[in-house]
Amino acid sequence: MESRLRGVGVSHGVAIGEVRHLGTAVLEPPAGQVSARDAPRELGRARRAAEAVAADLVARGTLAGGEAQAVLEAQALMARDPELIADVARRIGVGATAERAVADAFAAYRALLAGAGAYLAGRVADLDDVRNRIVARLLGVPVPGVPDSDEPYVLIARDLAPADTALLDPALVLGFVTQEGGPTSHSAILARALGVPAVVALPEAGDIAEGTLVAVDGSTGEVVVAPGERERAALARAAAGRRAARESPAGPGATSDGHRVPLLANVGGPADVPAALAAGAEGVGLFRTEFLFYEGGAAGEGFAGGAAEPPGEDVQAAAYRRVLEAFPQGRVVVRVLDAGADKPLPFLPGAGESNPALGVRGLRALLARPDVLDTQLRALASAARGLPATLEVMAPMVADRADARAFAESCRAAGLDAAYGAMVEIPAAALRARALLQEVTFLSVGTNDLAQYAFAADRQVGAVSRLQDPWQPALLDLVALAAEGAAAEGRGCGVCGEAAADPMLACVLTGLGVTSLSMAPSAIPEVRGVLARHTLAQCSRAAAAARAADTAEEARTAAREVLSGEAPLTAG
Ligand code: PEP
Ligand code: MG
Repeated sequence: MESRLRGVGVSHGVAIGEVRHLGTAVLEPPAGQVSARDAPRELGRARRAAEAVAADLVARGTLAGGEAQAVLEAQALMARDPELIADVARRIGVGATAERAVADAFAAYRALLAGAGAYLAGRVADLDDVRNRIVARLLGVPVPGVPDSDEPYVLIARDLAPADTALLDPALVLGFVTQEGGPTSHSAILARALGVPAVVALPEAGDIAEGTLVAVDGSTGEVVVAPGERERAALARAAAGRRAARESPAGPGATSDGHRVPLLANVGGPADVPAALAAGAEGVGLFRTEFLFYEGGAAGEGFAGGAAEPPGEDVQAAAYRRVLEAFPQGRVVVRVLDAGADKPLPFLPGAGESNPALGVRGLRALLARPDVLDTQLRALASAARGLPATLEVMAPMVADRADARAFAESCRAAGLDAAYGAMVEIPAAALRARALLQEVTFLSVGTNDLAQYAFAADRQVGAVSRLQDPWQPALLDLVALAAEGAAAEGRGCGVCGEAAADPMLACVLTGLGVTSLSMAPSAIPEVRGVLARHTLAQCSRAAAAARAADTAEEARTAAREVLSGEAPLTAG
């Protein structure tokens, strides 16, 4: 019997296939006692196992490359973390076996991580995987992992560990569904990097029997269990259409009648550049610099909690330069550090707030620590010196004109020879787009946070994901306000939130007047292909039809009808 489940779609596309579950048994070593005489031997075993796992993770990373490599190397740092090893040694010192000490030390650290905000909680799956790998090696048993299958399948897991996902063969794995995780979990990030559809935060997925046929829609978050004949045919047509769009020739983004919409990549650092280039990105529309602050801190300590101090000017400049060098003819829009809320950093204010998403985060945190902002802006100025790429810098979480002015003044004071812009992530910024543009020269709409703040719906909470749907007509209204304000001032207004990665929505955004689209590199080919099949007038009609709807679902349907030519031409 056909049934429908809904989670959070985090990687676009449709996958149809049989379910295989990831083995998720948590390895629980028996409690044993070792004598003080045997403790050094146990500690040696634990150290060797941790080191072997770290080396294996690094090797898997080298094989996988790209974003997966950075994730696996971060996991290797977990296996080598001196504080964790010290805790293991302490436990062995009071009689624990090596395997029990590792399991308990990791469990203690897991509890800390799980309670430290959504961003760090998202790393829990990574930590569990490292623990399982070390314990399995000590016990001499296989690590629970991806199923063996020669036939393509849809993978269902509680959550996915990067070491498994990194080596998944995209030809065999048609898509992912996870019971846990959110849009920022590694399952989501890696699914997007692999370019396979994925749905997360669907607890009921654990109950779907092995071998059941499912259809996964990574755009809507819908999973159809045992789809009927008609549903299967419709989904297969949609999937074939998407494949055809992805295979469209490369080139600059434009509608079929030649209206240019540059297609840019969202990157987290130099490791993502090859994928962006391979997808034909015309530049970078969002360089999320916070990853550098989490992984590349000056002292290198605190692998997952962020370094105690920000990386120095030279370390930052080197990373920025590598991205700028990759796009000699293109724009590179760098977002200054966006920390706080779900991404806390020890050296920024805001810790302990009762409502951190509404507290000192993003630009607010940087204005409270001007030295951190100035160092980053100076690093950007020095990285861009002598390079042909067009550097642009933007601030996250700009609320009003005063914020925009403060950021512009900081950019000028740092001697930055670059355009500076404001992200529109707070409804007030969309409402007052023209005022912001008296201070900065461009806008970039962050639809993820804009939806969160417009609908009072935490972007990490699966239960309110309906309100996080970027097709919500009220969200489209806010994007339209920002784009119209920018047009009235003769300025550009891009979109760099997840909305830009949905090909049909990309057409709608174009119709709303958005001037560039930035997305995960894997989404670019399909967005390019779908955009190239529609005129600007069709996009405008689709936008009007979507805005006239009352729900996200109706907006999607209305736009689809216009774009597929099924709607009367008078629509909108
Ligand atoms: C957004 O909020 O839409 C955005 C692009 O920023 P991030 O997802 O990094 O918060
Ligand atoms: Mg944001």
